[in-house]
Amino acid sequence: MAYVISDACISCGACAADCPVGCISEGDTQYVIDAGQCIDCGSCLENCPVDAPHAG
Ligand code: SF4
Ligand code: SF4
Repeated sequence: MAYVISDACISCGACAADCPVGCISEGDTQYVIDAGQCIDCGSCLENCPVDAPHAG
């Protein structure tokens, strides 16, 4: 399992700054999570102003 960021993302970068394994990066249109590295901690959802990340 890994978290996934929906298209509600406004590319603020808050989630990437606090991801403990550094698996969130800025993509072409929004931030994206590397599913192979995500440890399902939920920090990205807690930090997101628009609740874009969700459990995959
Ligand atoms: Fe990073 Fe945790 Fe979000 Fe996975 S759930 S992308 S490890 S902050
Ligand atoms: Fe996108 Fe939310 Fe991450 Fe900001 S915190 S980059 S809005 S997913």
